[in-house]
Amino acid sequence: MSKGQLETFFESLGEKKFRAVQVMKWIYQFGVTDFYQMSNLSKKLQAILDDKACVVPPKVKFKQFSEDGTRKWVFEVAGGSLVETVLIPAEDSKEFGRKTLCISSQVGCALDCSFCSTGKQGFERDLTPAEIIGQLWVANASYNEGVSPNDYKNMVTNVVMMGMGEPLLNYEPVVASMSLMLDDNAYGLSKRRVTLSTSGIVPKMYDLAKDIDVALAISLHAPNDELRNELVPINKKYPLADLIRAAKAYVYDENPRHKKHITIEYVMLNGVNDTDEHAYQLVHLLKDLPSKINLIPFNPFPHAPYQRSSNNRIHAFSNILNNAGFVCTVRQTRGDDIDAACGQLVGQVADRTRRAAKWQQSVAKRQQNQPS
Ligand code: SF4
Repeated sequence: MSKGQLETFFESLGEKKFRAVQVMKWIYQFGVTDFYQMSNLSKKLQAILDDKACVVPPKVKFKQFSEDGTRKWVFEVAGGSLVETVLIPAEDSKEFGRKTLCISSQVGCALDCSFCSTGKQGFERDLTPAEIIGQLWVANASYNEGVSPNDYKNMVTNVVMMGMGEPLLNYEPVVASMSLMLDDNAYGLSKRRVTLSTSGIVPKMYDLAKDIDVALAISLHAPNDELRNELVPINKKYPLADLIRAAKAYVYDENPRHKKHITIEYVMLNGVNDTDEHAYQLVHLLKDLPSKINLIPFNPFPHAPYQRSSNNRIHAFSNILNNAGFVCTVRQTRGDDIDAACGQLVGQVADRTRRAAKWQQSVAKRQQNQPS
């Protein structure tokens, strides 16, 4: 529930609105889920809440913590579906350094990007706001096991809505969850530290600019429509010209909450989208859009039809972008030892849809037909 919904809930119980803030702080800032431990509530209210409400984090089905500090959870949500969340600390992260949590917004994904492991599993359902914000709750709780509420510290410093699913296709629950991330009575993250990543659901990008102030990333991956239609099929519905127009509108929003730039995500696929010509096309495409470009070395998954570009190729590609005046970074590949890299979400744990089976059959057929 948002703060407003909680206030209404408490009023319906004949209580004052301020109870909402008290309970929010207990849940999000002190990690408490038992109403009887919420010591500034009356005994009577604790009993009523225990009867009428519950605070339930998503059930952890599997968790793995990597040597390099990366943490990964597979959650079982209502109905038995599985979703995955990954926490990646900055390379030089000390105890209180930057820790970025990659959160899922849907079970599976309907968009079927050709380089994405999640896309091959098909779409099952949207996550609820509780299932989305619960991923952040569990990540913070993992650093605070056994501590008293007074010593509880929220450790996640940055959130990216970049896990399983297309967040703008689960719009209201995602915006409700991000509102809690920004709310000072909940997680109080700054708007620059909450990023939504979209593959380009253009109409919803305009809505987002009006509804909430967070950083925006675009999963671009190709500099022209022909290639993008192949890699990110939603491009057939919302082609690049429309996407770039929506991105500019987001940056140049009339609202004083002016955003500085968009992050462009670009996965590096060997021989597919990584030539000098592609880099020059990208420079041209983004010339009027304040953008920071993040190159992502592809993380192969079983039967993936692509390979990662070489380090030299990635370097040459990023040089062209840097020389054209863009800030271009190369994402460090982290968490390889626990399959936590982007695009490998849940795949190894559950792969049950017809799309996955169909896709694996087509890969097997292709391999049979290849000359040995
Ligand atoms: S890259 Fe994102 S939008 Fe595309 S299939 Fe994967 S999860 Fe869905």
